[in-house]
This record gives sequence, structure tokens and C-alpha cells, in this order.
Amino acid sequence: MPATRAFVTGASGQDGSYLAERLIADGVEVHALTLSGEVPAFLPADVVVHRGDLTDVAATRALLADLAPDEVYNLAALSSVAASWEDPDRSASVNGGAAVALLESAWQVSQAHDKQVAFIQCSSAEIFGEPAQSPQSEDTPLRPVNPYGAAKAYAHLMTGVYRSRGLHASSMVLYNHESPRRSPRFVTRKITSTVAAIARGRADSLVLGNLDARRDFGWAPDYVDAMVRAARHAQADDYVVATGKSHSVREFVAAAFQHAGVRDWEPMVHTDPSLLRPTDPTDLTGDFSRARTVLGWKPSVSFHEIVARMVDADLVEP
Ligand code: GDP
Repeated sequence: MPATRAFVTGASGQDGSYLAERLIADGVEVHALTLSGEVPAFLPADVVVHRGDLTDVAATRALLADLAPDEVYNLAALSSVAASWEDPDRSASVNGGAAVALLESAWQVSQAHDKQVAFIQCSSAEIFGEPAQSPQSEDTPLRPVNPYGAAKAYAHLMTGVYRSRGLHASSMVLYNHESPRRSPRFVTRKITSTVAAIARGRADSLVLGNLDARRDFGWAPDYVDAMVRAARHAQADDYVVATGKSHSVREFVAAAFQHAGVRDWEPMVHTDPSLLRPTDPTDLTGDFSRARTVLGWKPSVSFHEIVARMVDADLVEP
């Protein structure tokens, strides 16, 4: 049997590197799309890197037609919610329109080769925005409150449309997922890198925005595992991928300082109103029952262990 071939977009990010490692370990031939000029930090050497912009639909479609992959993982996105307020057009085009174009490209491959192409759309808890129910499940109405969430909601809905058309397309509603590879643009890594710097006497303050926001923080490699399980499951579907517990940004800060052994840290934490967002979901918590029942998936790393691993990694940074 020929080896499985996978096509991964957004491969230079946190999830892309873990996913590529996982697929290579499974014996999959991995082709990755990364934006021109980017040097993928953690990408395994065996990955075939294609430089390109997902919003160049013609080029991406031609590449996909040429590769005819068995699995397509759409991780590419403008992943910062905060930045989506600065550039809502590009957020719409990358997180929404380009995802739809990729669904169509995968559909065309499945038709041309008369084979199943498994498509994994990386969606986000932000599609729920300010939900009326907690925790959220696959049946929770979509109510995004920022440009990022609205664009992701469109791609999520279109994944369902292509599933109805016959494509093996699953949308993974991923809650926040973290690791030492998380960019410091996100709050968790900003906290752990700054707390580690404070512990080593290299910084004396941590400046944040909304400390009261509550998020369901999971371990990124677990979330990549959920994607692979969904791609290989007999039926495609939508899946909430979460831990079922939320913690405030303030709790994350306290846990990080505690793990780094820094006492009397409260006076070092400041809030800057410019870091507050125009609207920000107050509490996102996911119900992962479907992923557990259907995919046999569950989170493997606790909140405090995630904080500990990230602080420890930042403490050994040169
Ligand atoms: P998001 O949930 O995908 O937007 O992930 P982030 O890590 O960027 O933000 C998580 C939460 O932390 C949001 O509610 C932010 O408003 C809040 N937050 C508070 N201070 C900061 C900060 O300095 N940077 C970031 N990125 N988020 C912050």
C-alpha cells in the first residue's frame, strides 16, 4: 500500500510543528505549506516544505492537484484574535475565504482521483463568542464577537457544507492550547516567558490586559492528536476539543509565579488599558464528550502541569 500523504497548511506555527512530528512518526509523507520567507522553527527535516500563501487560491489549488494528498490539515490562520481587530479584511480572507478555497481544492482532488480525502479544519472556541451556555458543545449556537471568530465561523459552517456534499471534512473546535512553542503574542507564553525573566532577575514587571478572562487551556500536542484521530475516523464530524475546565488569566499568572518560586509578585503585575480588546469573550469552556466517545480522545495534561512545563522551558532559555 502506498504511504499516506498529508498536506499541512500553517506548518510553521505551534500546532504545525507538533502535527508534522506526529505524522512523520506515523510514517506519513508530509508536505507543508508555509508563508514565503518564513523559517519553520521546529519542523522535522523530513517534511517537504512548499512556500506559498494560502490566499493565492490558484497556486494552492494547483499544488494540491499535483500532490493529491490523502489528508489535508488546514492550520493556516491569522491566529491572533487581538491582531484580527487591526486587520479584519485579511482575517476574513485567510481564516474564512482561503479555508473555503482549500475545501474546494480537496473536493476536486477527491473527485479527480476517486478517493477519500480527509479534510481537517482547525476551528476555534471563538466561534461561540459570548455563548448562552457553558460548557459549549457542537450544538451551541455560533455567536462570534470579534473578526477572528466570525471568519472562523464561516469556515466552520462551510466545512459542514462540504461534508454534506460528500467530502470527509471535520471541523475541530479547538479551545486554547498551549506549549513551550506557543508564540509570546499569546497570553500564556507572554506570562511564562516574563515570569521566567523575573525569576532570573532580567525583568521586573509583567504588563497585561484583561486578567479576568477565563479560558479552557489545554496541551497543544493533545489537540494535534485529536486532529489525526478525526482524519482517520470512519465518519467526519465536528468536534469540540477542550479540557472542560476554565481558568482565569489571573490564575495562570499566580500559578506561573508560584512554580517559578517568585514570592510577593503581586506588585510586579500591571494592567495596561491599551491591551484590552474592544470585545473579549469572558469565559470559554468546552464539553469534549463527543471527541471522547467517538474518537476515544481525552486531555492528558492538567492546567498546573501545563503551566509548570512552560515555565520550566522558559527558565532554561539562554
Ligand atoms: P485567544 O483566547 O485566542 O485570544 O488567546 P490569547 O492568549 O491571545 O488571549 C487569551 C486571553 O488573555 C484573552 O481574553 C485576552 O484578552 C487575555 N489577555 C490579557 N492580557 C493579555 C496580553 O497581554 N496578551 C494577550 N495576547 N492576551 C491577553
